[in-house]
Amino acid sequence: MYIDTMPIFDGHNDALTRLWLSDDHDPVDAFIHQQLPGHLDLNRCQKVGFAGGFFAIFLPPFDYLKQHHPNKLLDQGVDNFTQQQIEQICLQQLDLAQQLTQRSSNIQICTSVEDIEHCITERKLAIVLHMEGAEALQHDPELLDVFYDAGLRSIGPLWNRPSQFGHGLNAGFPHSPNTGPGLTAEGKALIARCADKKLLVDVSHMNERAFWDTAEILAQPIVATHSNAYRLCPQARNLTDTQLKAIYDSQGLVGVNFDVAFLRSDGQRNTDTPIEVILDHLEYLILYLGEEHVGFGSDFDGALISNELNDIMGMSKLISAMQQRNYSDQLIEKICFKNWLKVLQRIWAAT
Ligand SMILES: [Zn+2]
Repeated sequence: MYIDTMPIFDGHNDALTRLWLSDDHDPVDAFIHQQLPGHLDLNRCQKVGFAGGFFAIFLPPFDYLKQHHPNKLLDQGVDNFTQQQIEQICLQQLDLAQQLTQRSSNIQICTSVEDIEHCITERKLAIVLHMEGAEALQHDPELLDVFYDAGLRSIGPLWNRPSQFGHGLNAGFPHSPNTGPGLTAEGKALIARCADKKLLVDVSHMNERAFWDTAEILAQPIVATHSNAYRLCPQARNLTDTQLKAIYDSQGLVGVNFDVAFLRSDGQRNTDTPIEVILDHLEYLILYLGEEHVGFGSDFDGALISNELNDIMGMSKLISAMQQRNYSDQLIEKICFKNWLKVLQRIWAAT
């Protein structure tokens, strides 16, 4: 197992959505006992020392489902989800997370830093439940309590489409993060409610206006769970130097996204991309944020990953590359998990 490897805690993956989309007759069993196609499963996590991270509950775009997974839609004759379907899809992904923990003593849903530390010691996979895009909460705000009670501790109020909560972010490349209006009144109210409940509020999919609207509301650290440096890759999902400065001032964190289109300076969806470009972003972020406020935000199972990295097993190559660039052991430890645990403690255990 992974006794001698560095524990890795990561800001974002879409494994739950992949399980939900899977046509395998028992994807939960496949995740626990076999090898599922995709970037991660329990065996690979344990081999490489992947201690856990944020597992997103995510509503895939309707047109994507209609084209690639029509069996997942109740009614294929319509051109959008009903609210009931949206809620059902998100609850089904929550149920998958619960099944993982019920059917494997090596997987746990974590709601505190102590839980995550316990998982690291016990070599269990730590799941922090994250909601990516809050459409499920549009008609029934009380549903937030249902998800919270089930362990949800992080939320990205917006995704790449307009919703009741804000403008969403959908732009070509290159494009400034300034893509239009930010949060609606409902969006601001949702963020205030999430902050009251001490949920992490993720700015990763926010345009610039929504980012600043959120910064104004939050007293807690600002966190971008899976975004990169705009100066190195001018993609609207990445963060400008001014935004990085605000994240630093809030004692927040940026998790580096491994999607090649968010890393490469030309924005190309080209997997023939060396993993060194991940280090370039890390180092740029460290210039603005210092060593204490950067981590990983892989986006495994939701991102186009470099051939060199390939899947979660590539994390060992990434750590070797950090050593080759003479990162100290302390810095590697901070990036791999310590910084994430610190910022989560600041948010979840705030008094
Ligand atoms: Zn995302």
